[in-house]
Amino acid sequence: MYDRTYQAGELVGVLTTEPLGRVLDYRAPEGGCGDGDFVEVPLGPRRVLGVVWGRGRGDWDIAKVRAVGRVLEAPPMRAELRAFLGKAADYTLTPLPQMLRLATRAPGLMEGAALRRVYRLGGAVPNQLTDARHRVVEALRAFAGAPMTLGELAEEAGCGTSVIKGLVKLGVVVEEEAPRDLPFPPLDPKGGPELQGDQVAAADALVAAVAAGEYATTLLKGVTGSGKTEVYLEAVAECLRAGRQALVLLPEIALTAEFLKRVEARFGARPAEWHSGVTMTERRRVWKMVATGGASVVVGARSALFLPYQRLGLIVVDEEHDTSYKQEEGVLYNARDMAVLRASIVGCPVVLASATPSLETWANVEAGKYGRLDLSARFGAAEMPEVRAIDMRAEKLPADRWVSGTLAAEVAARVAKGEQAMLFLNRRGYAPVTLCRACGHQVGCDQCDARMVEHRFQKRLVCHQCGATKPVPVACPACGVEGRMAAVGPGVERLAEEVAARFPDARVAVLSSDLFGSARALKAQIEAIAGGEADIIIGTQIVAKGHNFPLLTLVGVIDADLGLQGSDLRAAERTFQLMRQVAGRAGRMEGRKGVALLQTHQPEHPVIRAILGGDEEAFWKAEAAERRAAGVPPYGRMAGIILSSPDVAQVFDFAGELARRDAPLRAVGAQVYGPAPAPIARVRGRHRVRLLVKAEKGVALQAALADWVGQMKLPANLRLAVDIDPQSFL
Ligand code: ADP
Ligand code: ZN
Repeated sequence: MYDRTYQAGELVGVLTTEPLGRVLDYRAPEGGCGDGDFVEVPLGPRRVLGVVWGRGRGDWDIAKVRAVGRVLEAPPMRAELRAFLGKAADYTLTPLPQMLRLATRAPGLMEGAALRRVYRLGGAVPNQLTDARHRVVEALRAFAGAPMTLGELAEEAGCGTSVIKGLVKLGVVVEEEAPRDLPFPPLDPKGGPELQGDQVAAADALVAAVAAGEYATTLLKGVTGSGKTEVYLEAVAECLRAGRQALVLLPEIALTAEFLKRVEARFGARPAEWHSGVTMTERRRVWKMVATGGASVVVGARSALFLPYQRLGLIVVDEEHDTSYKQEEGVLYNARDMAVLRASIVGCPVVLASATPSLETWANVEAGKYGRLDLSARFGAAEMPEVRAIDMRAEKLPADRWVSGTLAAEVAARVAKGEQAMLFLNRRGYAPVTLCRACGHQVGCDQCDARMVEHRFQKRLVCHQCGATKPVPVACPACGVEGRMAAVGPGVERLAEEVAARFPDARVAVLSSDLFGSARALKAQIEAIAGGEADIIIGTQIVAKGHNFPLLTLVGVIDADLGLQGSDLRAAERTFQLMRQVAGRAGRMEGRKGVALLQTHQPEHPVIRAILGGDEEAFWKAEAAERRAAGVPPYGRMAGIILSSPDVAQVFDFAGELARRDAPLRAVGAQVYGPAPAPIARVRGRHRVRLLVKAEKGVALQAALADWVGQMKLPANLRLAVDIDPQSFL
């Protein structure tokens, strides 16, 4: 089980999560230890968690080397995971301790098994509950299956612990001692629907890949509703039959609830769930059960990649193109690429599922590195919607209205038939700009270089960069004139106002992440809409992702040009994907054809024409040719360097000096561009400057970057972050 074991007293290297820059030497404890063992080691006056990371280096004063405190009960970290953390650290230029932190993000790993007091619903039927009591019951229902401690339950329900104790007295809630960390119920691979058409061959291929137990990456491509999920669940079933573990990554927590239900229906029990919305107690359970084999399927967000699987047999990255797979804070990594890395080290297949793959994945397929399976037809009778443009130049709308006459007439027709219509606008809030009509001043954030967005629902202006808020001013902060402040441009809240005025009898629902206090509330709203409790749905990009609305037959895109502005190299790709995803929401109803209408001021724009024409391969080929010509990803390599400091002169000087000392980069043929103010030049009072490094594909860029950045010592208040393969240029 170990690669190497050490006798008591032998020198071992121990990696901790402390930012120390090196693996520390310790003596193996009484009884010895082995590579990968989780250990508790003394560090100064503290005891910290660590992992045995090979032989000690012996370059430390031997008299000062201390002994490992003890070996923890957890199974050792496998060589495969250690290798993964090492390579991921090298790739993202992240210190190893920070990678280890990602892999040990559960509380209480140093504690042994024990009992704890948990709470669940009891048999007594609650009547006439107070609000607080009602919330407790709701919280327990929502987390069905996951035990909660008193503190967790009180927090989830937003009440004091005495409320819970009161319910215990009534028998509505039961208090019991339970062992910590129970295994998850086994999943039954039998069952599943009878696959049809090209689903059969696709599932066969994936099942064979799982059975082969070797690394391979496959793009599973098919429009929404074509059965991608059903197909990859067959591969998950094969994994279960083979006694291996499967990991399914989803881009957004809001999608997991729906997905978990589906897994439960297919496999007879709920799998383990891992993301930021999971309670700490449950996280610890998942971590331990993944490590001991008590969890066979994990459904989670990016960080689920760093769990200590014992027999990983499959990784699925659903909606692989989704930008939220790129972690933009802390360790900057792309979970899709890291999934491929981990699978290649473990030796298991990866499935990248998408209706609108990223150009990176498309290029890897073209280059023969990834396989590709296509699901061409939609399952059942529903068809891909027809996509048409509405030329806004011909619509002559007043300046404060955004729904064209053409679109409004289509919406009215659907509502009259009892169907649903969706209006898509990728802008949260009421209005993106608050302007003084007297002097032209636009209200900005005091800490960031960003305009503040009016949220009428909250009655505040909000900075979408840092979250700062202020009241909507009555007098202009610049010229002092009163009563001339005006909201300019539309957000979903304002669109909702227009729609309500225009369709007074329709039931209007707004889906925007900021309008819901919790993922659960959002989920409830989505379910209500799917059940038909709205006629017109207004939404931000949250609606583009995977939710099923069976009654929806019309999608209207308020501003199809929105994503094409700006200088992001992925603007065309993103707009193309987003428009197709949004359009794909319509017409899932059997026997009714859906329609998607795009309001645009530039119907002749190549990207808009590609969306209308629906010729995907032609779009990808044209986009690939442009990127190849420009030498940008995926045909060239890029790294973004963001420097920030409260002192604007200091950060520019430092960045300029770094750019001049570019010899390590030139040595590998890489060039540095900048310094330039970052597109958002100030966030939370820190001035941000960016450098961009470009290199050819195949260059060992990370090593050169490390040498380059390592030449200069960082002043205390200056921060430097290296973003390999940057996704956004903020
Ligand atoms: P995708 O993941 O591509 O969006 P899904 O797998 O979610 O597609 O399939 C869309 C819907 O069609 C789901 O409700 C799914 O259960 C159903 N479905 C797909 N394939 C089949 C099949 N072969 N038999 C029965 N239902 C199916
Ligand atoms: Zn701000």
